[in-house]
Amino acid sequence: MPCIHVLPDLLVNKIAAGEVIERPASVIKELVENSLDAGARNIEIAIEHGGQKLIRVTDDGEGMDREDLALCIHPHATSKIQSDDDLTSIRTMGFRGEALASIASIAQMRIVSRRRGADEAYEIRAAGDRIEPLSAAAGPPGTTIEVRELFFNVPARQKFLRTAQTEMGHISEQIARVALVHPEVEFRVTHNGRVVHHLRSTNQMRARIADFFGRELAENLLSLSRTERGVTISGLVGLPAYSRSSQKWQYLFLNGRYIRDRFISHAVREAYRGLLDPNRFPVIFLALTIDPHAVDVNVHPTKIEVRWRDSNIIYSQVLSCLRDRFLNADLTASLKMGSAVTVSTNGEDTESETAAENRRQEIRQSIADFFKRATPVVGPGPVYDARQSFDGVSRTPPSGGLSQRSFSPTFTPDRSTGAFATEQTLSAYGMKAEEPPAGQTIQIHNTYLVAETGEGVVIIDQHALHERILFEQLSEQFSRGPLEAQRILIPETVDVSPDQITVIEEHDETLKRLGFELSPYGPGTLAIHAAPTLLKDERMNDFTRDMLDRLADQSNPASTEQIINDLLSMMACKAAVKAGDRLTDEEITALMAKRHLVERSSNCPHGRPTSLRLSLDDLEKQFKRV
Ligand code: ADP
Ligand code: MG
Repeated sequence: MPCIHVLPDLLVNKIAAGEVIERPASVIKELVENSLDAGARNIEIAIEHGGQKLIRVTDDGEGMDREDLALCIHPHATSKIQSDDDLTSIRTMGFRGEALASIASIAQMRIVSRRRGADEAYEIRAAGDRIEPLSAAAGPPGTTIEVRELFFNVPARQKFLRTAQTEMGHISEQIARVALVHPEVEFRVTHNGRVVHHLRSTNQMRARIADFFGRELAENLLSLSRTERGVTISGLVGLPAYSRSSQKWQYLFLNGRYIRDRFISHAVREAYRGLLDPNRFPVIFLALTIDPHAVDVNVHPTKIEVRWRDSNIIYSQVLSCLRDRFLNADLTASLKMGSAVTVSTNGEDTESETAAENRRQEIRQSIADFFKRATPVVGPGPVYDARQSFDGVSRTPPSGGLSQRSFSPTFTPDRSTGAFATEQTLSAYGMKAEEPPAGQTIQIHNTYLVAETGEGVVIIDQHALHERILFEQLSEQFSRGPLEAQRILIPETVDVSPDQITVIEEHDETLKRLGFELSPYGPGTLAIHAAPTLLKDERMNDFTRDMLDRLADQSNPASTEQIINDLLSMMACKAAVKAGDRLTDEEITALMAKRHLVERSSNCPHGRPTSLRLSLDDLEKQFKRV
C-alpha cells in the first residue's frame, strides 16, 4: 500500500508558518521587512490586543500593481530573487517568498496596495485556504496589510500566546530590531489606539536609540565607524560603567538586518575584558556592512543566524575596532563611575573554577608563608603575639590572655596576611583552642575575614557572608509580608526599554511585595515612588534595571517563586558590602556572629565558595612537620 502523498497547499503553508510565525511579533517582523524592501520612509503600525486581534502595517513604499497583488500571497512568490545566483548576493530583507502565504494560511488577511505612479489601488483578501478575487479599492500609493484573528485555525499556537502586554513587549522588541538600524524611516506604533512609539526620521542612530530607549542610555554610548578589510562597522557601544546584567542589550545588525552571532558576541566580550565585571554585559549597537557574497543568510528560516565565509575576519575586525575605540576614549572617568555603580564582587561569582582554585592556592600559600616566617617555635615554649606589631592598625586589640614575648629576628610581620598566629601556635602544641569570639577576627585585603577555629583557621569572603546574611533576612521578611520599603518624595526616574514597562504591569503583585512602587513616566522611563529600604541611592536604580531585565527575560522563564528567589538574592548581592570595603570592628563582629550561615553551606547562591578552612593538619603538612 503506498503511503507517500503530496501534502495539500494549506498544510504546506501552515508548516512554513510554524517556522516563521511564532507569535504576533513575527508577523510584525515580516510585514515591516517587506515595507523596508519596498523602500518605505514612513511605516505605521496599528495593533489591537497584543496583535491577536489586529495587526495593520501601512507603508508609503513602491506598492504592488494588480498582477503582483494577485501573486504575492502564493507560496514561493517573490519579486526579490530570480535565480540561483541571486541567492548568493541577497540585498533585501526578504527573498524566500513565504511570509505572506504563511500568514494568510493562519489568519484573516487583507492587502490594499497602489503602485507608485499608478492611479488605482486594489485589494485582496485571504484566510486559510480561501482566497477572494481581487477587487478595486481606494488608497494612497503604498501598501496596507491587515492581519486579523491570528492563529484562528492553529489552536496549539493560540494556547501559547501570552497576555496582550507580554505580546506587546515582544512586538516592541521586534520593532527595535528593525527601527534601530533604519533611523531614516519614521515609525508610528499604536496599541489599542494609544501611541506607544513615535520614532521620527533621523540620520543618527544615537538619536533613534534615545527615542526608543531614553536619553540616559543614548548618552552613555561611544560612537564608532570604520571600514577595513571589506568590513564596515558602525554603531554605538556602551561605556563600561553603563553595563547591564543581561545580554539582551546587545543589538547586532548585518547589512540592515538584526542577527545573533557568536563570533561577534565573542569579539565584544573580548574587547570589554578587564573593563567589566565578568557577569556584566555591555550595551551594544553594532551595524556591520559587508559584501553579500561574503555571507550566507539562507541558513535560518527567520534569517537570525548567518554563516560567514571567513569568520576570522569578522571576529578580528570587531575586536580591533572596539579596542581602538576604547584606546582613544577617556575611560578613566567612566571606570571610576563603574566602580561606584556596577562593580560588585558578584562578578567573582562566575569566576572559573580554575581561577577560584588558584586564588585558594594563593591564600593557602601566603598563610603558609606567614607561619614559616613566624616560626621557628621550639617546643611548647615561646609564643609570639604578632598583634603587638600592629598596634594602632590591627582590629584585634590584645586580649591579655596570651603571653607576649620578643620576636624572633626572622619574623617579619606582614599586614597583608594578618595576625592570627598566636593561638594557632598554642593549639599546635596541644593547648586548648576554643572558637574565638568574633572580636578576634581580622580583615585582610579589605576583602576576607580571618579567624581561628578549634581545628585551624577559617577565611571568609566578606561579601559572600554579608550577602548570605541579607538573603536570609530578606527571605524571612518576605515570608511574613512585603519587604520594608521607603517612599521617595521626589521620585527617581530610570530609563528602561518599552517591553520592560509592560513587565511592571504584569508583575505588579511581585513588585509590591518586594517593596517597589513603579509607574510609567513617559515612553522609555519609569518613576520609582518607593523601594526596599535595604537598597540605598545609586544601588536602587541599578537594581531596578537589573530586576526588570530579569522579569522581562523570556529566555529564562521560571515560577514566580523562583523569580522571587532570584530577585531576593540579587538584592542581597547589591546591598552587601563589597570586596575592598573596609569594615569597622563592629561590622566585623556583626558579620562574624552569623558566620555559621556560610560555614554550613560553603557555597554562595551562585555556587562559588564562600569560606575556606585550613586545618592544623593542612598547616603542618605545609611546614613538613608530618
Ligand atoms: P519575500 O519578502 O520573501 O519576497 P513575502 O511573502 O514577504 O516574500 O512577500 C511576497 C512579495 O510580495 C514580495 O516579494 C513583494 O514583491 C510583495 N510585497 C510584500 N509586501 C509588500 C509591500 N509592503 N510593498 C510592496 N510589495 C510587497
Ligand atoms: Mg518578506
